[in-house]
Amino acid sequence: MHHFRYVGQNLRCESVDLAEVARLYGTPTYVYSAATMADNYTRLARAVGGLDAQICFAMKANSSLAVLRHFARLGAAFDLVSGGEIRRVLAAGADVRRSVFAGVGKTEAEMRLALEQGIFAFHVESEPELARLNHVAGQLGVKAPVAIRVNPDVDAHTHAKITTGKSDNKFGVPLAQAAAAYAAAAKHPHLAVKGVQIHIGSQLTSAAPFVEAVTKVVPFVAQLKADYGISYFSIGGGIGIVYQDALASGQPAWWDAQPADRRPLTPEAYGAALVPLLQPLGLKILLEPGRFLVGNAGVLLTRVEHLKRGAGKNFLIVDAAMNDLIRPAMYDSHHEIVPLHRDTTRRALTADVVGPICESGDCFAHDRLLQEVGEGEYLALMSAGAYGSAMAGRYNTRALPAEVLVHGGAFELIHARESFEQMIANEKIPAFLQ
Ligand SMILES: *Cc1c(COP(=O)(O)O)cnc(C)c1O
Repeated sequence: MHHFRYVGQNLRCESVDLAEVARLYGTPTYVYSAATMADNYTRLARAVGGLDAQICFAMKANSSLAVLRHFARLGAAFDLVSGGEIRRVLAAGADVRRSVFAGVGKTEAEMRLALEQGIFAFHVESEPELARLNHVAGQLGVKAPVAIRVNPDVDAHTHAKITTGKSDNKFGVPLAQAAAAYAAAAKHPHLAVKGVQIHIGSQLTSAAPFVEAVTKVVPFVAQLKADYGISYFSIGGGIGIVYQDALASGQPAWWDAQPADRRPLTPEAYGAALVPLLQPLGLKILLEPGRFLVGNAGVLLTRVEHLKRGAGKNFLIVDAAMNDLIRPAMYDSHHEIVPLHRDTTRRALTADVVGPICESGDCFAHDRLLQEVGEGEYLALMSAGAYGSAMAGRYNTRALPAEVLVHGGAFELIHARESFEQMIANEKIPAFLQ
């Protein structure tokens, strides 16, 4: 469920007319619903209410300061993957001491920063990393809290680039070697063994792979509790969202109409499947949702530049591009595209919706059926709140997009569009070319 819907002919986010945002701040612009983020958070927290759960928002999905502040206010901690993300949490005025630090290649400087800020735990992915962390903690004269990421070798049945829990992925320590890794951790004088972690992939649309992974590692987790007195088990993130029918899925009626065997994963189904498996452990359970909390809470607004009618193919050229939203180019992902002004009296149009970048990969949709739209009209790419602005770049010397947060009938710019001067601020012509 989300807060994007047509009122009359105009698409709104909560009570805000999205065309008004586009006119005021220009395009391409990401717009987020604070209410949708809060609903997603609350629903998930309720769904795992039977556990001593701590939700750590995987902020790589959307690391805008305002979004972080919003989740911090809701009670979330964070799943961090870099020193930059630690600094973002601090800049948002949020708490690092309940947050966890993941990633396969943490540098010594990043480890130092996390320790100085009192990180809740490091999610360690290899024995060399244990040794490095022990070394850094020793220099600071502290004990580093650790959990080891265990790779359960489970197929998440998602896109290859976001599958992380198979034995041929770079992530974690294989279950068969995990006991040895814990023994190694326990021998390091500057490490304190606190927990265990798994994360099998992203955009999972059924509870089955989560159940398979948790079931596989639960005996090992219980053994760790007995051997090392661990206090928590992090089950990672990965809950999927609706991309195909994104607009309609904002309404409860859409969910009610889904056949049981094809119903997308809900937080309630996730909780119902996992809580009974986790409760008997008697441990704190960490959840690391990224996409689920923010994905359907954001849209990318774009303006139509031209409709180019070709031989047997139409191209709708818009002002957003793969640098603003790379998911279609990178993961072949589907984003529903809807007009901000809906007019059912217009003819239909089938077109490739493309950006202006000089690459064929700069395409948001192939042969998409839309209402006919022309130059200057606005469109929204739905379900763009996760891995959208966070993955934006400057290819073709295009400025990073603006971001706006809606709250009821109010909206505010939370990330101003970058200026050309900001884009080139760190560049210089070397002496020998002057
Ligand atoms: C990316 C990531 C997440 C979040 O994944 P989502 O699919 O966005 O929920 C959680 N935990 C770890 C370790 C990750 O790398």
